Amino acid sequence: MEAEEVLRTKFREIGKEYGFDKVEAEFVAFKEFKVRWQRSYKWADFKVSDYLADAPPEVIGGLCNSLFSKITGDEEGYSEEMCRWMTAPEFSEHKQQVYLKRSRNLTRSAKGEVRDLESSYDRLAEAGLVEKDPAIHLTWTRESNVRKVGQCSVLMKVISISSVLDSEMIPEFVLDYCLYHELCHLIIGFDPSAKRHGEEFSELEAKYPRRDEAGEWLKQLSMYL
Ligand SMILES: [Zn+2]
Repeated sequence: MEAEEVLRTKFREIGKEYGFDKVEAEFVAFKEFKVRWQRSYKWADFKVSDYLADAPPEVIGGLCNSLFSKITGDEEGYSEEMCRWMTAPEFSEHKQQVYLKRSRNLTRSAKGEVRDLESSYDRLAEAGLVEKDPAIHLTWTRESNVRKVGQCSVLMKVISISSVLDSEMIPEFVLDYCLYHELCHLIIGFDPSAKRHGEEFSELEAKYPRRDEAGEWLKQLSMYL
């Protein structure tokens, strides 16, 4: 069966169990992983990220169950199978390039005009703060994000840093701190139910030796993480 047909069939089957008699589902090429839906009384229409197009039927079934339980009022969260599948190394390995192509504002290079994110990463590793993971893609933004310092896709293992920081005016330790902050998201990993900057995160992030000083710099620049 074709992937989209598996999707539609699963959603119709499981939808019926939840009392929905008309269910539509299709894959859409969203940049970020997400699912959108519309529903009325017994009708529901799902747009599912095509990053799941090669997922095994049990993963699709798990997703479908969690979505129907969500729209009917239970917060079940993503199934264990789905989380396992999406956080396996093969997932980012196969989808990272597609994700990067869809992210038009990224240079897809760690080398900036004056700063190199790989050197920054090396310094963090040398300081014992992180262990280098070759699966992680570091890139600058094309347009300068003047407010947001960086971004991290945990699923795709992509970290982007605003090209505002690609400047001799900003000390290296500030850049390193920003990269470390984003790496902390990857170290903690995929957990859709956790707070993005929760307690566990803050504890890990506080290991950066000049964190307060770097934070002051960002405040001066009116930028945030
Ligand atoms: Zn963050």
